[in-house]
Amino acid sequence: MKRRLFLGAGTAALANLPKCSYAQTTAPSTALNAFAPPGPIAPLRASADRIIDLNVCLRPFRAQGPRIASEQRYGKTIVHHYGHGGSGWSLSWGSARLALPLIRASGHKQIAVIGCGAIGLTTARVAQMNGMKVRIYCKERPPEVASSKATGLWSPDSRICSSEYATPAWTQAWASMARSSFKTYQSLLGLADRPVEWRDGYILSDIPFDQPLPDSAHGGIDEPDYPDLIGELDDIRPKSVLLRPGEHPFRVAHAKRFTQMSFNISSYQRLLMDDFLRAGGEIVHEVFEHPRQFGALRERTVVNCTGYGARALLGDKSIIPVRGQTARLVPQIEVDYALIYRGHNLFMLPRRDGVLVQAQGEHDFGNEDTRIDRALSVAAVERLATLFA
Ligand SMILES: Cc1cc2nc3c(=O)[nH]c(=O)nc-3n(C[C@H](O)[C@H](O)[C@H](O)COP(=O)(O)OP(=O)(O)OC[C@H]3O[C@@H](n4cnc5c(N)ncnc54)[C@H](O)[C@@H]3O)c2cc1C
Repeated sequence: MKRRLFLGAGTAALANLPKCSYAQTTAPSTALNAFAPPGPIAPLRASADRIIDLNVCLRPFRAQGPRIASEQRYGKTIVHHYGHGGSGWSLSWGSARLALPLIRASGHKQIAVIGCGAIGLTTARVAQMNGMKVRIYCKERPPEVASSKATGLWSPDSRICSSEYATPAWTQAWASMARSSFKTYQSLLGLADRPVEWRDGYILSDIPFDQPLPDSAHGGIDEPDYPDLIGELDDIRPKSVLLRPGEHPFRVAHAKRFTQMSFNISSYQRLLMDDFLRAGGEIVHEVFEHPRQFGALRERTVVNCTGYGARALLGDKSIIPVRGQTARLVPQIEVDYALIYRGHNLFMLPRRDGVLVQAQGEHDFGNEDTRIDRALSVAAVERLATLFA
């Protein structure tokens, strides 16, 4: 390794990413070498013996996008709010604000929220901030919920719908969700425990960024086409910078630098829980086998934020599981940059609770297998190590 280069990294730029990866969300327009080097880059200690945790969770993907709709059943107003694919954390606040008029329309001031993940917690908070009393009912709460196992990047367009459903009206609603969430996240910067942070990252590539990847390098071979939405948000995304040879320390031919918002999920969801409880919220453990059980709840308005759980609970087969596995390495506080290795379906995000390494398998789409495949993560960590060798 050329340590000098790691300690004096150069300027940066952005890349084409494998379709539907988080990296795609970080690909605004590219400027060439526009800024001075950002400062030293500490090498990642990428070795499998530093894995401290492995997790699998399922993204609740719907080709139509999230379901935000209300119905009258079992003597209740039921507002459905689920199906946020790979964008649940990123869109949560704005999505909750889209659901709010449906909740308000019931006229009830005491509401039940089913689910305590990213969507349930933020929906509950938005309802509280609008004068409602909220009780959350859930099978699991953080850190047991699927949301706790997410990576933690601002990725508002990740597996959020398929191209055929991205009409202009849909795209407008999506952009409004994304902007509204983005705005809220800026108010969560600079807090103790850093629930939200901005980070630089590098997109690395073996081939020039203007050369398309071979199909086999896209991962997720069963995936549908995803719409190119992110351009709608160009005015709120820092531009990426293309690095010239010698301006970065990584052992790859091509690199870009980007800047993106990220979430320290453990401290962020703790903050959400604390705020919810401080505002008079209650959390009740309850497992629903059938939606008719909503009829027995005290509250007359029920907001269904059960994520992937809605598939079994409602028999809603429009929710498709997209498996995601992450490994967490021993925290390295000095590593303050993300990495995306284009064409290798590999993503690394440093968080306060560890360095997240996400590897996408070829058959993750439609795959509901939540068993851990340790070999997949070990291979991902070993691949990362080659960038620093
Ligand atoms: C590997 C991976 C990485 C990801 N990274 C990111 C990222 O970087 N950025 C981003 O924005 N998004 C990311 N996502 C997507 C994000 O995690 C999801 O969109 C989000 O977690 C969905 O939240 P949710 O609240 O709808 O579901 P969940 O977190 O699954 O919460 C559902 C809640 O409902 C409860 N529940 C379900 N069924 C029942 C029932 N029958 N009875 C009672 N309670 C029930 C559960 O117990 C839980 O409390 C990632 C996903 C994966 C898999």
